Amino acid sequence: MQPLADRYGRVATDLRVSLTDRCNLRCSYCMPAEGLDWLPGDEVLTDDEVVRLIRIGVEHLGIREVRFTGGEPLVRRGLVDIVRRTNALQRAPETSLTTNALGLARIAPALAEAGLARINVSLDTVRPDTSSEITRRDRLEDVVAGLEAAKAAGLGPVKVNAVLLRGVNDDQALELLDWCLARSYELRFIEQMPLDAQHGWTRDRMITADEILAALEAGHELTPAEEPRGSAPAELFLVDGGPATVGVIASVTRPFCGDCDRVRLTADGQVRNCLFAREESDLRTALRAGATDQEIADRWVIAMSSKLPGHGIDDPTFLQPDRPMSAIGG
Ligand code: SAM
Repeated sequence: MQPLADRYGRVATDLRVSLTDRCNLRCSYCMPAEGLDWLPGDEVLTDDEVVRLIRIGVEHLGIREVRFTGGEPLVRRGLVDIVRRTNALQRAPETSLTTNALGLARIAPALAEAGLARINVSLDTVRPDTSSEITRRDRLEDVVAGLEAAKAAGLGPVKVNAVLLRGVNDDQALELLDWCLARSYELRFIEQMPLDAQHGWTRDRMITADEILAALEAGHELTPAEEPRGSAPAELFLVDGGPATVGVIASVTRPFCGDCDRVRLTADGQVRNCLFAREESDLRTALRAGATDQEIADRWVIAMSSKLPGHGIDDPTFLQPDRPMSAIGG
């Protein structure tokens, strides 16, 4: 086993696999209303190629967790099969999914049966008008049905990811928490990051962790959860003494790069050692040129060794990556 280690003592064991850059929502903080130029089909890894790279990660490089994401992973036709084959690997990793939940109501039982352990659903509001404003689609009911189906299928604890936008839904933090508490979903707020395709992010418009916590404390007592946080991105708080929790993923104002154990594989077979990396390592070309598992593993190890100590959002020289979040895999 060759660990995916970098020069700062971190070892990546958590692989985020983007299965497509396409999405059926158009969240304003992620992509423009007209969508993006999607990857050409022949550049996207086939199901066999995805599973092979995951197998190399698991068998050669110490990957223990695999999270499928996108774009929207539920629009990938082979999703259930990829999940099943990943769970059938020797030393099978724990598999999870990040999704907008459109269509999840139909597919949740099959995902659970294929071995998927957990699910994170993105939901920024429970008000239909705000949902349409943010996602530019009228699909809130499908998301709610998808959440219920995930819970019924045993894909728990079901987590909800929310992004707050100033002047749009930043007055709804408490309402969203109460809605999740009533249904036993674990809510996590994510600080908005400079990863939108339109490059519209500004630090002063972003809702900070401090603001989020202040809004929640207007309705609940929050105490820091005692469990060690480890490499988990979310800082957890007990709500009114627990056991329910709420989390804040404060990538911008409270960065946790020193504990990062993640590595990313894009839908077109590029390894990224950081969400904010400006360079990628091309595994697809090697794969299609007939490279052995060992040769691919060696490339992957080299790609990880150059991981920077931090994402540098606060550095005046920070440059947003060329690819937006939807093309990297969030
Ligand atoms: N389509 C899936 C979904 O909606 O969960 C997976 C991909 S999406 C890019 C993953 C997560 O990234 C979502 O929770 C979304 O809200 C979040 N996200 C997208 N752009 C973001 C940004 N600029 N800052 C913070 N989070 C963002």
